[in-house]
Amino acid sequence: MLRGGPHSIIVTLREQGESSGSRRKFIELYCFRAHAVPGLPTADGVIIMQQDHCEGCGEIMASHDVVHFGSMDKGYRKLCTRCVNAEIAKLSGLEDFENIRLDPIGITDCAGESHQFHFRTRLLGDIVSLEAFELREGNPAGYRFQMVGDPEDDLFALLGRLIQKIRRTLSIRHLKEIDGHGLQIADDTVRGRIEWGESGDGRVPLLVVDGREISWEDFGSMLMSFEGWQFKLEILDPSDEV
Ligand SMILES: [Zn+2]
Repeated sequence: MLRGGPHSIIVTLREQGESSGSRRKFIELYCFRAHAVPGLPTADGVIIMQQDHCEGCGEIMASHDVVHFGSMDKGYRKLCTRCVNAEIAKLSGLEDFENIRLDPIGITDCAGESHQFHFRTRLLGDIVSLEAFELREGNPAGYRFQMVGDPEDDLFALLGRLIQKIRRTLSIRHLKEIDGHGLQIADDTVRGRIEWGESGDGRVPLLVVDGREISWEDFGSMLMSFEGWQFKLEILDPSDEV
């Protein structure tokens, strides 16, 4: 039903009324691809968030909220998240889907630093994905969270669970500054996210730990304080509790 990396998501829609049958027939593949655009620095160094217009509702939106949506047969249009959800709801027969826009909220971490989280709801056929993310230069960066649920359930209950998850994560810091040694692993567990590393041309990951970007090389240096120790690496889905 759902495939793809962080830059593209493919939704397979089942023909209505066949969801419980053993013989599943797939009618169409819809693909939406994010086109992250860096903010534009102005002469005084202020970053202006890139904007784009939705070909569905005509609204001007932040670029991170506009995707190319469509199929090989019917072509692609630039649509905002709410217009994509409306299209998928219609195609999936989910007329009652709560296609609401959630305002950003601020949550403070265990070090007293405030983080502003933006929300995006994506209807993906028979699941709904609720994401929370920070913005840097107009693009999602820093802490990112995802929670998936049933599209017919109360979206605010899903939001409540997502906020609890954010609070749990922000209550721990895995890295700490040590005098003379820079940033080091605070305990013996590190949780984070694997991202595209531009400096390594995509061949080595960029890690995000405690909502901050850590280069593969810097993380390797931190591990050297554990020379001779063992480790266990476990990869988890973005929506799993890590
Ligand atoms: Zn729209």
